[in-house]
Amino acid sequence: MAEQDVMEKLVSLAKRRGFIFQSSEIYGGTGSVWDYGPLGIELKRNVKEAWWSAMVHQRDDVKGMDAAILMHPRVWEASGHVAGFTDPLVECKVCKKRFREDALATSECGRKPLLTPGAHEDCDLSQARLFNLMFKTFMGPVEADSAVVYLRPETAQGSYVNFLNVQTAARQKIPFGIAQIGKAFRNEITPGNFIFRTREFEQAEMQFFVEPGTDEEWFERWLEERHRWHLSLGVRAENLRFHQHGPDELAHYAKKAIDIQYQFPFGWKELEGVHNRTDFDLRRHEEYSGKRLEYVDSGGGKRFLPYVVETAVGVDRTVLMLLCDAYREDVVEGEARVVLALAPRMAPIKAAVFPLMKKGGLPEIAREIVDGLRKASIPAFYDEAGSIGRRYRRQDEAGTPWCVTVDGQTTEDGTVTIRDRDSLEQLRVDRSRVREWVLDGLDRGG
Ligand code: ATP
Repeated sequence: MAEQDVMEKLVSLAKRRGFIFQSSEIYGGTGSVWDYGPLGIELKRNVKEAWWSAMVHQRDDVKGMDAAILMHPRVWEASGHVAGFTDPLVECKVCKKRFREDALATSECGRKPLLTPGAHEDCDLSQARLFNLMFKTFMGPVEADSAVVYLRPETAQGSYVNFLNVQTAARQKIPFGIAQIGKAFRNEITPGNFIFRTREFEQAEMQFFVEPGTDEEWFERWLEERHRWHLSLGVRAENLRFHQHGPDELAHYAKKAIDIQYQFPFGWKELEGVHNRTDFDLRRHEEYSGKRLEYVDSGGGKRFLPYVVETAVGVDRTVLMLLCDAYREDVVEGEARVVLALAPRMAPIKAAVFPLMKKGGLPEIAREIVDGLRKASIPAFYDEAGSIGRRYRRQDEAGTPWCVTVDGQTTEDGTVTIRDRDSLEQLRVDRSRVREWVLDGLDRGG
């Protein structure tokens, strides 16, 4: 399949099946903002839960928090975002389109805006000017400079300014981390590739505070840990790789940065960044707030400003990775089908239950099975509309790993068929064992 084809097919599937819709579509859409539909929100929640479970619940050295999106404007001066969170913007004097200068290529006939299909052939580009990516708004009723606040461009700063609050309240000793999942906003010049680069998105970030001198070792440990996590979501190992930032790519705060990249249909791109941020952020917040943020070791009485190893992944980019990795087209019994081969743990619906016919007591039995699954908190779906083949296809596109069918034999011997989305195998199981079978399957499938 051509790369563009895959993305087009995914965008159309995402809309058709209720994963992702364009924001404010009836008004013509909002630039690079997307809404999650009934299946999309389940998939996204599964991603966030998998992250929270691995990063917070399964560890005793990372605690969670949820900082507000609006913060004191001085935070963004201290962090360097007011002065330096910029991209070089160029404008074509002919077609009036705007581009990121670092996304242009030089060719014999001049600089061309490579990333924008259909861009003007002879773009006459202006000088680059630095464009700040933070969204500005006003706090309170007065639109004055003194009331300017920013929509946060990352969750990390909320963890830094709360470092001592969390450390003392949760009685943590260094090394320990603070995890957050939340919205971030960036006024990107060239958003695109569906939910890959948007202006409103969600991040899952963890700041790990360590004693200086142990930072390099912790960096390696977290990089490995995060790589393992992506594999645990069921993506193919050959589609993941590392990319170390060279000196010209490193952010102003970073001593070392390695991206975990995924091979999207449009190329290898950053999915997650692991950064050694040194004591840059805490030191700057000390300076700008006038408050000490040193850690004092209660045992040895050592005092120091911790170094930070950060892991920062985009939730939406992870959703896109899962959709791309899971998308398959095959032919079953001479008929083309589209399947999302999502790991069962990530699938929005775990089991769909169908009565073969709308009579003979079959719908009632099917509903009882659905109720049993729901009572065990297993997202299940009841469907009696259309031929059984069509019902299977709908669930294949939704990524549902198992379809349970209640048929004539069920009324005789109490068994139902369970059909596996990937192997297409069908086996008969006693209806009382469906819940256990699905739970076992979730354990097996990760
Ligand atoms: P990029 O180079 O792609 O702009 P970045 O290096 O600026 O990303 P970070 O600041 O490290 O990104 O943010 C951490 C993660 O947040 C990224 O790895 C990515 O998954 C996600 N992310 C960043 N910007 C966006 C965006 N505009 N839309 C969606 N996700 C984003």
